[in-house]
Order: sequence, then structure tokens, then C-alpha cells
Amino acid sequence: MKKTMALVTRLALGLLFVAASAWPVQPVTVCFRNPHLVSPTVLNFTIHALKRYQNQFATELRFSCQAPNPVIVTFREAPPQGRPADALGATRVLNGRILPDIEIYRLSVRQMLRDPGDLAEGRALATVTAHELHHYLWQQPLHEPSGLRSELLTAQNLIRGFH
Ligand SMILES: [Zn+2]
Repeated sequence: MKKTMALVTRLALGLLFVAASAWPVQPVTVCFRNPHLVSPTVLNFTIHALKRYQNQFATELRFSCQAPNPVIVTFREAPPQGRPADALGATRVLNGRILPDIEIYRLSVRQMLRDPGDLAEGRALATVTAHELHHYLWQQPLHEPSGLRSELLTAQNLIRGFH
């Protein structure tokens, strides 16, 4: 049976606090690790779609692995053992702090989309990345019932995004 929704994230460890942090103002640099898992075209669509979140995130998003202290976004084919099999992404947590260490599970995303083209795949990867970035930028482990911050997203959500 085909699932219609999949988990966007499962934080690596439980958290007990909610931080009311200020909006980020400094530019945020994203470094993609394992970018060869997706085609250059898909990666370009991902970056293009992510840039559309800059206003919503109230920060400039840059894409480089040269800048100090980037947010690491690692593409993996599938969730590691111990994570839900239908997870689309995850963000690492250590001692109550949400770390700039995000994983995106490419095959899980593709399975949601059913034979996606490059544009759809790029946009969907961006939606999952934006969801995880939100956790990190706001140090917010909790989810909301709908929108980018929802724990469950449909294929349509993934492709359209929440710009
Ligand atoms: Zn989440």
C-alpha cells in the first residue's frame, strides 16, 4: 500500500525544553555533503527553492562549504537503522541543543513523489531541508498541525513547498 504521507523528521534525541529564541539575522550558510547523490540539475532546483524561504526565515541563505560554521546538510539514500523507515529527514540533537547537522533521505523523498522529474525532486528536497532548517534556526523541536512545521507532509506539500 502506498503511503500518502511520510514523516519529515524525527529528532535524534528527545528534548524537554522550548526556546523562545530571537529570529536569526546573520546569513546562514548551508554546506551540502554528498551532493553527488543528486544530479547537478536537481541540486540547483533545491538551492533555488530554498532561497525562496529567505523572507520567511528572516535571513539570507548562502550555499558554500568554505565559510566557517555552516549548517551541514547531508544527503543519504535512506534513514539509518533505528530511525523510522519513512522518515524524510532528521536533525541531530545533543544535550538539548539542536545542531546544524541535518540529514535528508533521498530515496524516501523519491518514493513519496512517484517518479518525480528533476524539478519536483529538487523542490521536495528543499521542502524537507527547510523543515529541518526551521528546527535548527529557531531551536524549536516541536511541530505544528499544518504547514512547513508539520511533522507529516504529503507529496503535494513537498513539491509545492510553503513559500
Ligand atoms: Zn520536524
